[in-house]
Amino acid sequence: MNGDVSSNVSSNVSGKPLPQISDLTRPFWTAAKQRKLVLQKCTQCGTFQFFPKPWCIECGCRDMPWTEARPSGTVYTFTISRSVVMNYRGWEKDLPVLMCLIDLDEGTRLYAQVVDCQPEHIHIGMRVQVCFEDISEDAGIPKFRPL
Ligand SMILES: [Zn+2]
Repeated sequence: MNGDVSSNVSSNVSGKPLPQISDLTRPFWTAAKQRKLVLQKCTQCGTFQFFPKPWCIECGCRDMPWTEARPSGTVYTFTISRSVVMNYRGWEKDLPVLMCLIDLDEGTRLYAQVVDCQPEHIHIGMRVQVCFEDISEDAGIPKFRPL
């Protein structure tokens, strides 16, 4: 190990890895840059889904326009990271990092960081609302904070 991060993962100025954005996922990241939480919503059955797929996970419909979602949810579960992994030193200033599975009020589950919360206060069932952080000139990332 020489301390280098994987060569096929780009890193932003903060020293954190950037997502690999595809045509399928770009609307999610672009909307977050514009401070909106958007999800694919099926025009046939109304299901919101995450993460993005070319078809509805409930009915198979392929008409899944990106739709603004209610910006709130509930912590389904969480883990507290107290050390930097994979040599992404940009995470050091954020430690401890609260990584959560959030059950959005729209009915789908999202993997996201909870911020502005002491580790001793995070709990399953905690109500949270979305907030955003820029990760590049073109993309933002949704995070959550306690309601
Ligand atoms: Zn559907």
